[in-house]
Amino acid sequence: MNFSKLPQLVDKRGKLKSKGTYSKRTKTITHRVWHHSLTKKHLGGSDAASFADYHVNTLGWPGVGYTFIIEPKNLINTPNGKRARIVYAHDIDRRTYHVGNSNQFALGICVAGDYRYDTMDDATIASIADLHSALVKDNIGKNDTSHSEMPGYSWKACCVYNYRKHIEWQGLTTPVTPSPAPDTYTIQEGDTLWSIAHKDGTGGVQVEDLIKANPGINPAKLQIGQKINFGNAKEVIVQPDNDTKEETKPSSSGDAIVRSIQKTLNSRYKFGLVVDGIKGPKTKSALIKALQTELNNQFKAGLVVDGKWGSKTKAAIVTVKKGAKGNLTWVLQAELYLEGYNPGSLDSIFGKDTETALSKFQKDKKITADNKAGKATFTKLFAA
Ligand SMILES: [Zn+2]
Repeated sequence: MNFSKLPQLVDKRGKLKSKGTYSKRTKTITHRVWHHSLTKKHLGGSDAASFADYHVNTLGWPGVGYTFIIEPKNLINTPNGKRARIVYAHDIDRRTYHVGNSNQFALGICVAGDYRYDTMDDATIASIADLHSALVKDNIGKNDTSHSEMPGYSWKACCVYNYRKHIEWQGLTTPVTPSPAPDTYTIQEGDTLWSIAHKDGTGGVQVEDLIKANPGINPAKLQIGQKINFGNAKEVIVQPDNDTKEETKPSSSGDAIVRSIQKTLNSRYKFGLVVDGIKGPKTKSALIKALQTELNNQFKAGLVVDGKWGSKTKAAIVTVKKGAKGNLTWVLQAELYLEGYNPGSLDSIFGKDTETALSKFQKDKKITADNKAGKATFTKLFAA
């Protein structure tokens, strides 16, 4: 085996916290799945031993869920230069828990760190590339994927580093960004409320949210295939304000829909706009504030709510696509309307009319018309 000869590899099989053993795989490994630990890389808990404690004590798994763990804080001098230590935790043929129903054929590799905030250093990237090339030579797995690219996990912010670039993968180089959490989630093998909740769902769902959203659920008795509600992980559906209806009467000043947008901004966010029905910079700025508020509340973006479009707001944008519902969808609809693209009723639901308005806007602005509002679309809508 080439991987076992890597100078930065330490064999910790049988030496990490465990409670029983993982069973043997019934399928050949086809996927090498890349994870990160979502623990800041320099903190005490960011290593294989701590992950093993957490997976065994808190999640109740037989052992740490990954076969390999790369530890950026443990540097090893090798003949090839500095490398992050690679912990070899389980025999390759053990079906560890890391991607639910795909565990049988998926090899789990975790890079310690939270790459939503941490930056990856060269010694770590080198260890990723070294391990990858050894596994390829050893014929272990055929495809590289991120956790979020495995069935059922598109909402996971894992891994967020560019594993494709790091392994010099020869295809797409854009890593996927997590999509909003679904309404319901189907329990997969090894899932617990703690592993599902974690802090890495796009909406930052917590265990308490899951318990609240699933009255009567018994966290100790989750069944594979059981459907649970995601609760606060998804956008909150907002009923249209009752008092906006009167504003559609043609008797008042300005554009009735613009007035309803201004009224909603005032009632929902307390912005104190003058309700004059006139499309102006103040209304647009208030919509940016609404957007920033929603990104903070729903996605813990930590933005300054200043009503100004900037790089931080752009970086925090989540993709809003067909079927989405909630305040972000409403902001999109309202701004499309202000820009002269009618999304139909501003009902906070991304349906056919919103799609039509969006794709017209995208075509006019020469953005790839993919019927999804992502960073490029929001920039065209909001950048001055
Ligand atoms: Zn993961």
